[in-house]
Amino acid sequence: MKVSRRGLLAGTGATVAGAAIGATLDSQPADAATGIATLIHRVPTDEAVAFITIDDGYFTDAVCDAWMDVAANANSAKVTQFLTYYAASSGQYPPPTSGAGLDHIENLRKYQSGTADQQRVGCHGKEHLDYRTEDESDQQSSYNVAANLLGDNDMFFWRPRLFRPPNGQYNHGTLVAAYAAGMPWVVRWTHWVNTASGAPVLTNEYGTPVLQPGSIVVIHHPSGPGQDGFTMNQLQVALNAISAANLEPAYLHDYLT
Ligand SMILES: [Zn+2]
Repeated sequence: MKVSRRGLLAGTGATVAGAAIGATLDSQPADAATGIATLIHRVPTDEAVAFITIDDGYFTDAVCDAWMDVAANANSAKVTQFLTYYAASSGQYPPPTSGAGLDHIENLRKYQSGTADQQRVGCHGKEHLDYRTEDESDQQSSYNVAANLLGDNDMFFWRPRLFRPPNGQYNHGTLVAAYAAGMPWVVRWTHWVNTASGAPVLTNEYGTPVLQPGSIVVIHHPSGPGQDGFTMNQLQVALNAISAANLEPAYLHDYLT
């Protein structure tokens, strides 16, 4: 079932959207009339689905690249990437169209599967900055440029409609700017896979680490080269947690339109 922003508002009532779906931090009412993106921490659905998101894109894990490469095998998983432009482009502008830069983009493309809409990447900023330091119009121009570039045919083909601020740091200006830049959803998360102490562990800052319908899990691409297994291990933790909760992985774009 798709969740339209209009339906989300009409169905739950603006002030009780969070309570209606089980937690106060789940969502914040959007106001299309005033052009503010909808902020969500989990997808408001009762369906037995959860969502794996992969952030950043500075480097990729060769083990996971191979596993996710649907052109080469039948493994893969339903994931949604939130990519930072200067990470995905290896720090280059415009997007690299040859050499190691293109190789990196092609590795990131292995994480795209499904229909064109399902393959759409999310935007994780032009740079990995705390955009709360910028005013609304500077945030907007930055998000706009990032979405245009990420959606370019030299990168990921479809312009992002979902925005995740770096480190999840946002303010009111972020919500206004994301909406104005063509991204009506600002997506945080309920869980992440913590790699700080070695073995990846499912973590939830809001309570016990048990997934529920609509949970959104963050895992990460490596921040340095040669980290084979880094993302694969996190992905396995996320898939195991989804399975243990009797849920199935799903694409965010099937639910957030
Ligand atoms: Zn990030």
